[in-house]
Amino acid sequence: MKLFSRSLWRSFFLKNTQRFSPVFISFTLLMIVLVYFLVYFTGGTQNAYLHAMYVPVVFISAVYGVKGGVIIGIIAGVLLGPLMPHDTVNMIMQDSVNWIYRMIYFIGVGALVGFILDRVRSQYDMIHDLYTHSTDTGLPNYQMYLSKYNEHDEDQADISLTFLINNYEDILVLVGRSHYAELLKKIYETLIAVLHESSIYQVDVCKLWIELSQKSFKNNYVKMLQKFEEETFIINGVPLFVDLSIGVYIGKSEDFSRLEAFRASEIAALYAKKNMLKYSIYQSDFSYPHYKLERLGALPRAIKNNELFLEYHPIVNLKTGQVSAFEALVRWRKDGEIISPLDFIPLAEETKLIDAITEWIVKQVIKDYALLTNENDVMVNINLSQRNLYNPSLIESIIENIKKENYKDKTIGVEMTESTVMLNLNLTRTLLTSLKDAGIPMAIDDFGTGYSTLACLSELPIDRLKIDRNFVARMFQDKGTEQLIQMIVNYAHELDIEVIAEGIETKNFEDALANMGCDFGQGFYYAKPMTVEDAKVFMAKYNGKTKKS
Ligand code: C2E
Ligand code: MG
Ligand code: MG
Repeated sequence: MKLFSRSLWRSFFLKNTQRFSPVFISFTLLMIVLVYFLVYFTGGTQNAYLHAMYVPVVFISAVYGVKGGVIIGIIAGVLLGPLMPHDTVNMIMQDSVNWIYRMIYFIGVGALVGFILDRVRSQYDMIHDLYTHSTDTGLPNYQMYLSKYNEHDEDQADISLTFLINNYEDILVLVGRSHYAELLKKIYETLIAVLHESSIYQVDVCKLWIELSQKSFKNNYVKMLQKFEEETFIINGVPLFVDLSIGVYIGKSEDFSRLEAFRASEIAALYAKKNMLKYSIYQSDFSYPHYKLERLGALPRAIKNNELFLEYHPIVNLKTGQVSAFEALVRWRKDGEIISPLDFIPLAEETKLIDAITEWIVKQVIKDYALLTNENDVMVNINLSQRNLYNPSLIESIIENIKKENYKDKTIGVEMTESTVMLNLNLTRTLLTSLKDAGIPMAIDDFGTGYSTLACLSELPIDRLKIDRNFVARMFQDKGTEQLIQMIVNYAHELDIEVIAEGIETKNFEDALANMGCDFGQGFYYAKPMTVEDAKVFMAKYNGKTKKS
């Protein structure tokens, strides 16, 4: 036992369980007995040593409160009263008035200290209660989980479960805060009733964490799913539709701490939500929290230390056969390994780091641009992320940076994926207009992977549209896809939008897409993404070869 740890002493003064442990009671009794012998062997109550009795009186009443203080006062009074001579050498006993008077002092001090500490304890309990329970629902919260977790570090649960209310915002708007709290309490009670477990915590406004033993999981998990399938939660007379996703992490693991096991179950719950499943069990190929955090943590350093670099992928004009543009694609050289943008851009997009990355890319493209083009008239496209749209000052700084270099219009353009554009059409339209006004062309990337942008094309100030490579890849297998591509090309042309076909890997695709009227092509048929120096050489060679006289 760590005798001098702060939390141990705090728990003796503040928590009932430790205060009444046999070890602690024996310790307090030993203190009184020691003082008794100290007074006895130093000659009795005639000496000042008797005041040492205030130490156990104060200590014990602090620990046991008013009642404990009064009892210890009486015991101390008796021990140093009728049971203790005034002079132990000549065995002269004390006057009764003397020891009674002293006992009253002991009782008074004990009761006062006990009273003060009782007040402190009740305030502590109140604050602790507020801290460890949700203020709206009164359910045990994340802090409660953490306090338990610290106490039983070793003892990891068998199963960690995250319970997510997907449509909580709709419910909140519909029924209001207090009725939403009522719903959460009902869900909590239902869980307790089905699972017979009390380790349930409301860790967020829409999220519960549950720890289960293997046995309880086996016996009750399916029952729980059924129960929530059948149950209708009626709040304020309204039967609510509660859209739930459950994420499960099974087993103790050396790789995962207890908290990480919950994070894994959260990831599983989010997976279930995204895929419209009722529940999902964590698989190792779901994004791994360790790995995510480690990569995210290393990203700011990567930006500062120039670990990021760009490769350029040519875009060829299908009519002239000349390289018309390059797409700048970012990579990360991390500890000698090259990491694909697909493995860190989505992570960065979950944080503000994506803005710093985009800023770095813009500056690097501006530097490379001078090298890439002296006499050639070529454009470079930069990919913008969805999150970049939420930072208008970044967009302003992109425009400013591009304009500062005195480029002709339409030399550096941006690409934004179809799904990004659709996410917030009004915002995108405003941003695209400001880019367009600044002479920066705009392309919609990965067209065909999202929904319904076709109808919105006429409303957007875009210059180019890139048909997604997965879509292109299907065109020879599926007549419908081919017809759809043809339709997109025709419609885009009507709106004065040029079309780039992505993912051209063979001559067949190039020919077919050129026949369909596509203006540009991009793909491994021409080249793989390459450094700026190689891109320059490639362009000179390719243009020389394909120049039509
Ligand atoms: P994207 O913007 O659609 O970029 C095209 C991706 O398709 C590139 O992969 C490119 O190498 C690949 N590609 C092009 N032609 C072919 C082909 O014929 N066959 C095959 N199999 N692949 C082809 P990459 O470089 O891995 O980039 C993947 C995605 O990462 C990009 O898709 C883009 O969404 C994102 N990304 C890349 N660089 C950046 C960046 O600088 N900023 C942002 N925000 N995202 C970036
Ligand atoms: Mg792109
Ligand atoms: Mg693309």
